[in-house]
Amino acid sequence: MSDIKLLITGSKGRMGQAIIRAAESQNVAVASTVDVGDALVPALEKADIVIDFSSHLFTNELLDECLKQKKSLVIGTTGHTNEELARIREAAKTLPVVFASNYSIGVNTLFWLTRKAAELLGPAFDLEVVEMHHRLKKDSPSGTARTLVEILADVRGLEYDNDCKHGRFGDVGARTPKEIGVHAIRGGDVVGDHTVIFANVGERVELTHKASSRDTFANGSVRAAVWLADKPAGLYDMQDVLGLK
Ligand code: NAD
Repeated sequence: MSDIKLLITGSKGRMGQAIIRAAESQNVAVASTVDVGDALVPALEKADIVIDFSSHLFTNELLDECLKQKKSLVIGTTGHTNEELARIREAAKTLPVVFASNYSIGVNTLFWLTRKAAELLGPAFDLEVVEMHHRLKKDSPSGTARTLVEILADVRGLEYDNDCKHGRFGDVGARTPKEIGVHAIRGGDVVGDHTVIFANVGERVELTHKASSRDTFANGSVRAAVWLADKPAGLYDMQDVLGLK
């Protein structure tokens, strides 16, 4: 049993509700919750660590208050602007922060496999990322798809600047090793599917992860909070939490 106390922000949302259940099942105390209209300052005073799955529009206010009260953060929210991403990186110089586009063990294994496959298969293979999510998802492409593109771009030696829209990333035109396709499909109640396609003439490799329950992200985020409790200031991701680095 961990003795940390959590503040869950975005607590009335799909993920917020799953995280409250995950904390209970892992015997971690939820000291307070915040959603739209709730006061952040007193809620944060009751907690040691925040788990935030809300909106990127809330990120600046949350970081300001965490810096004032010196509280650690697990950030699962996606869809941040470049300015908001810079603020998270700045705050992590002072605070312990886990920031991950995906908290599932399966997807973090997919990240690892994607890097390995891209390295082994080399530039002859065309790269495409395809994701599908439920009809209510706000950001597109997903944060996880962006991370996959970032990994592929890194292996191909391309500059990645978060400017990753649905469609093509890199030098678009006739298929070249400097181009990565990104495709976001929306519909129904899909929790989160991601496929990375490596296509060459005569063969292709596809790596796929399908989430069928939000509990996988929720359990991972609580595990990240427990892991973060004794860590110094710094920016960590789920690969750090899982010891995959
Ligand atoms: P949701 O819309 O169901 O829930 C978001 C909640 O945040 C809502 O209750 C909303 O009222 C609340 N909220 C919005 N603005 C707020 C504010 N200013 N202050 C306090 N609360 C506020 O969405 P969701 O499906 O639960 O997803 C939430 C976020 O988590 C999204 O950015 C999503 O992409 C991300 N997500 C990340 C992972 C991961 O593993 N990193 C997994 C799933 C979802």
